[in-house]
Amino acid sequence: MKGSIICPVCGYEMEVDDSIEDGEVVACPKCGAELKLTFSDGVIHVDVV
Ligand SMILES: [Zn+2]
Repeated sequence: MKGSIICPVCGYEMEVDDSIEDGEVVACPKCGAELKLTFSDGVIHVDVV
């Protein structure tokens, strides 16, 4: 799902595109934190892994 997320660790805002899938883990490009993205009701939720 496409959208923007904010890293809860450092506050960096990044864009994710349609290649991201529900439950996928991505690394914040600024601080390196691993963030798990889950989708619900059209919103991307971010949890630090
Ligand atoms: Zn970060």
